[in-house]
Amino acid sequence: MKVKLDEKIEPIFQEVIKRNPGEIEFHQAVREVLESLGPVLVKHPEFGHHKIIERICEPERQIIFRVPWQDDKGEVQINRGFRVEFNSALGPFKGGLRFHPTVYLGIIKFLGFEQIFKNALTGMPIGGGKGGSDFDPKGKSEEEVMRFCQSFMIELYRHLGEYTDVPAGDIGVGSREIGYMFGQYKRITNRYESGVLTGKGLDWGGSTVRTEATGYGTVYFVDEMLKMRGESFEGKVCLVSGAGNVAIYAIEKIHQLGGKVVACSDSNGVIYDPKGIDLPLVKQLKEVERRRIKHYAEHHKRAKYVPNGNIWEIPCQVAMPSATENEINGTDAEKLVKNGCTAVGEGANMPTTPEGIRVFLDAGIAYGPGKAANAGGVATSALEMQQNASRDAWSFEYTERRLAEIMKNIHKLCYEVTEEYGTPGNYVNGANIAGFIKVAKAMVALGLV
Ligand code: NDP
Repeated sequence: MKVKLDEKIEPIFQEVIKRNPGEIEFHQAVREVLESLGPVLVKHPEFGHHKIIERICEPERQIIFRVPWQDDKGEVQINRGFRVEFNSALGPFKGGLRFHPTVYLGIIKFLGFEQIFKNALTGMPIGGGKGGSDFDPKGKSEEEVMRFCQSFMIELYRHLGEYTDVPAGDIGVGSREIGYMFGQYKRITNRYESGVLTGKGLDWGGSTVRTEATGYGTVYFVDEMLKMRGESFEGKVCLVSGAGNVAIYAIEKIHQLGGKVVACSDSNGVIYDPKGIDLPLVKQLKEVERRRIKHYAEHHKRAKYVPNGNIWEIPCQVAMPSATENEINGTDAEKLVKNGCTAVGEGANMPTTPEGIRVFLDAGIAYGPGKAANAGGVATSALEMQQNASRDAWSFEYTERRLAEIMKNIHKLCYEVTEEYGTPGNYVNGANIAGFIKVAKAMVALGLV
């Protein structure tokens, strides 16, 4: 059953649906935030007066462009590129680029909208934005990926700048793609502007811990939630969906903290290893060889590969969805709770459907929504920008300490807000309200812009 929206907020939401037809993921992300905001308008009537909610739901700028490129056979291919610059009240637009065939405007807008609040929670001076393309890097040669990235940047570069808009990676975009895009930006502008993209390689302006940051940060956030309940990762059986950047480093940190991850996945299937996932093997398969997760089973006879399997059917105590949106539905959530899961930390963005979220909240388990839990990636991107601005490079230990501190602070901020608003431990409200208030106050202060 859907939560009823506040009577002042319902018409705003209806208007969002009308103005953005067919963009269902964007509607879902907006509704989830608006469900938390009724009590905020009562405490802060000025936000209503300044029409902050209406303004925050409308991106400052949306760019859609053609990306033509040539494949290895010499044939012309055409993709569509997007950059949604959602809100710059707190700093330059900041948020990743996603290359995946499912990308369309509604996906980029949902991600950009969430990014506004996530970035606010980090306490760093960064606004919210997101971009990407329906280009599918899978099965493409190195040269094809490079030609695509270069063509993508030929249009995007004019919208970027270290004080304007600073993209990073997301699904399908790692340091290889960031490298090709940074190279093209440098060539077009004749500027070595390190702070214009984050997620760069360590030899050319990147930051230590950026690769690990989202996965590590999400685990730190779950660890904080567990501590509130007098628990820890020690000895806990965990599931991590996906086998990409976020999933790999979530698994690494869980293992460091004494937990055992028994399953991970990709879009073709699930690998279950009762002895615990062999992470060096996953890294070799996914980061070096760029192969499918099914090959894991060829190396370990005890492991089982289930094509099109559902990872959430495996009993666990901690679940970390780290693949994509809406990967846990109401039925999956019920199964997780029934099987003894007591904590969920979202490495992915919006991986749980509204029905699933309701199940977790009703069951009273520790549920850390992506906006708060996976903010460590963008926070470390902001640390990369700091290092670029000061021509500095920090050690792994120092940067990880900064990340851990940031995640602790985000948890504390969210938890305190849930107490202030009378829903202690409801991190959905905590993340939405704390993030919103920060941006709303800045928007009021900056006037009608
Ligand atoms: P990667 O491309 O590195 O990995 C994505 C993983 O998820 C792959 O294993 C992929 O499998 C799987 N996956 C992707 N789409 C689907 C799908 N539609 N169905 C099933 N599985 C899928 O991306 P990231 O690890 O960077 O991103 C994962 C999630 O984390 C996303 O939601 C992203 O928005 C979020 N996130 C990422 C951050 C970052 O710093 N990278 C920061 C904050 C959030 P396959 O290879 O088969 O496609």
